[in-house]
Amino acid sequence: MATREVLSSKTETLNKYLKLDQKGSLMAEYVWVDAVGGTRSKSRTLPVQDYKPEDLPVWNFDGSSTEQAPGDNSDVYLRPCAIYPDPFRGAPNIIVLAECWDANGTPNKYNYRHECAKVMEAYAEHIPWFGLEQEYTILDHDDRPFGWPTGGFPAPQGPYYCGVGSGKVVMRDIVDAHYKACLYAGIKISGTNAEVCPGQWEFQVGPCEGINMGDELWCSRFFLSRVAEDFGVKISLHPKVMPGDWNGTGLHSNFSTKEMREEGGMKHIEEAMKKLEPHHVECIKEYGENNDLRLTGRHETGSIDQFTWGVANRGTSIRIPRETAAKGYGYFEDRRPASNADPYRITKILMTSIFGKL
Ligand code: ADP
Ligand code: MN
Ligand code: MN
Ligand code: MN
Repeated sequence: MATREVLSSKTETLNKYLKLDQKGSLMAEYVWVDAVGGTRSKSRTLPVQDYKPEDLPVWNFDGSSTEQAPGDNSDVYLRPCAIYPDPFRGAPNIIVLAECWDANGTPNKYNYRHECAKVMEAYAEHIPWFGLEQEYTILDHDDRPFGWPTGGFPAPQGPYYCGVGSGKVVMRDIVDAHYKACLYAGIKISGTNAEVCPGQWEFQVGPCEGINMGDELWCSRFFLSRVAEDFGVKISLHPKVMPGDWNGTGLHSNFSTKEMREEGGMKHIEEAMKKLEPHHVECIKEYGENNDLRLTGRHETGSIDQFTWGVANRGTSIRIPRETAAKGYGYFEDRRPASNADPYRITKILMTSIFGKL
């Protein structure tokens, strides 16, 4: 466990430098989604101004170093699409979320945002809201969850979910640092909780409208990696970090349209269930890697082979919250997506399954 101390950033020393005047320049950290579901970033200096994404320079990176492009045609372009205040460097510095584009003017293979944005635009009249519950596991540098005894196992699940106190939860400092960073940046983080498996936590982002869902979740994932780097720990989004009788890690995706949120909305929710059922296999393909290890029908999941839904039932593909059923309108929770799923792919397939492909 010494890793955490040894590998953490010297943030107190860094603070001395963060206070220095930047003489009219700002640091723009360009962030993009890489080929393996992580984020990468690099920074550049720009004059201090109130930027919109379209005012920012298009930039590039060496795609052959990230397996996003071949070595003989390696430039990948970064087209800015969203800007957030930088919680690590403070004002006036910014985080720039960017889409990846190839030199020939087509979206990069790993750019799932472009098509998602088109779908959100086409169906904008339905005012789609999403709320994603990002679960994750905090690991040491030997890839073992923090709080797990070396060479052994923790006591069975039970005390850890929403747990308080030593021996039940670990690393709350990381969770809170990340929470603050999201709030500072204007990310719609709606809460956090300790999860069922020891070392596992969750934060929720939403409700966010349309394309903002993917943007805000990717930015919050970047923040989580950065915070973890400061604390000298690793974050895993693997859906089943530890085999055995432990809950997997998911990305429950809550969804509603304007029609579902209004009086009589239950009719629209039930219609959506009918639309989603025949798309089950197609949805699962968009819902993350190694999800078969998690969607076993046990540990509060539905089986990967079957589409099921029910009110207040956590053993189904989709759960209708009790409150939604009682009021007759509200939202539904798609419990299938794995923690490592791409939010652009989830939100897009939900929309096209319900409203049709473009
Ligand atoms: P759970 O009870 O499954 O643990 P959480 O409270 O963790 O649920 O997460 C619920 C998520 O659903 C939050 O991100 C919240 O913002 C989002 N949400 C709430 N209302 C709606 C809605 N009408 N449409 C879409 N998402 C919603
Ligand atoms: Mn939750
Ligand atoms: Mn959860
Ligand atoms: Mn949930």
